[in-house]
Amino acid sequence: MLKTQGYAALISKAPLESYSSERREPRENDVVIDIKYCGICHSDIHQARDEWGGSIFPMVPGHEITGTVVNIGNKVTKYQIGDQVGVGVFVDACRTCEQCKNGLEQYCEQGFVPTYNGRDYEGNPTMGGYSDKTVVNEDCVLRIPNNLALDAAAPLLCAGITLYSPLKHWHVGPGLKVAIVGLGGLGHIGVKLAHAMGAEVTVLSHSSKKQDDAKRLGADHFYATSDPETFKTLRRKFDLMYNTVSTDIDWDQYVELLKIDGTMIVVGLPENKVPIGASPLVNGRRSIAGSMVGSIAEIQEMLDFCGEHGLACDVEMVDIQDVNAAYERVLRSDVKYRFVIDMASLKKTGSQSAMQQVNAT
Ligand code: NAP
Ligand code: ZN
Ligand code: ZN
Repeated sequence: MLKTQGYAALISKAPLESYSSERREPRENDVVIDIKYCGICHSDIHQARDEWGGSIFPMVPGHEITGTVVNIGNKVTKYQIGDQVGVGVFVDACRTCEQCKNGLEQYCEQGFVPTYNGRDYEGNPTMGGYSDKTVVNEDCVLRIPNNLALDAAAPLLCAGITLYSPLKHWHVGPGLKVAIVGLGGLGHIGVKLAHAMGAEVTVLSHSSKKQDDAKRLGADHFYATSDPETFKTLRRKFDLMYNTVSTDIDWDQYVELLKIDGTMIVVGLPENKVPIGASPLVNGRRSIAGSMVGSIAEIQEMLDFCGEHGLACDVEMVDIQDVNAAYERVLRSDVKYRFVIDMASLKKTGSQSAMQQVNAT
């Protein structure tokens, strides 16, 4: 077994702490990755706090992984030692069901093997990217374009693909009016991608604080949903609306902002069930749809698109010792726009970390 060092939640809702775990010995098709960076996705928080139920502990979260290949199995053909690579939300799928055969392994009928908080097909718990190393089958490893920095690219592996896939699926491009609800990790890369695809992009944010940032990221318009006038002004304005919010909102109000035949695509996964009235849907032939990450081929397509457009995430780097403080800041929507753990910090000992020092003053 391969010894690894990282951070884990030992039980639900406990602060994450230093934790050693093991990964399988690399098999003939496996790639061993020296993890350099891992993004902090809101899903990490939902799962470490068992907000979706069924969490497996101890849990090493993290599914926005970038790093370098340091070893390969003898049948690996796609990667070489030294390559810049990434790993996203899943590390295997059954490869035989209809969805897998159609290249939609994110919807694998047997359920894909999650990068963490899941079990592999032998029943062993999987461990994620808040760690110094991982071992992944080469088919689920992604190539990071050389012109993208590994830190800013890390959140593309989940946040990026979670927006890219439904933007492509609903044919976002010039002439379409697209709303992005929530300017967090998912939302901010959604704005960049939708803008790069040529759509007219509006950000709907729950306060007015992020107005300047939204414009800088590529939004054409910005509205604060704390202002009741917003829901009157924007009635029936959007073809598509991407809902990235992680908590409860009044869905009816948002659906009313869709044009006739408009669609709200849900990607946020709040803890509570969603209450939605029939009338805003009926009264406009509107739809609500959902979307989950993207396939391996589509993640690679997204990474290459980002490479071609020189586009990546706005990240705030944190030491791993500050992961719990970072979680609290994500919950307060106080992150611009994705925390990324610098895994080099695992080697730090004793000294106070940068974020604790800032918070102490
Ligand atoms: P995040 O960075 O915390 O962003 C969520 C955003 O929601 C916040 O930045 C905030 O934007 C908005 N928000 C927060 N509190 C709000 C409130 N009280 N009222 C209205 N809006 C509020 O989280 P994330 O990492 O982007 O993830 C967002 C959600 O997507 C999570 O539930 C996560 O689990 C889920 N997710 C789904 C997939 C998938 O495959 N479908 C993949 C990854 C993540 P404003 O300040 O602009 O309002
Ligand atoms: Zn995620
Ligand atoms: Zn399958």
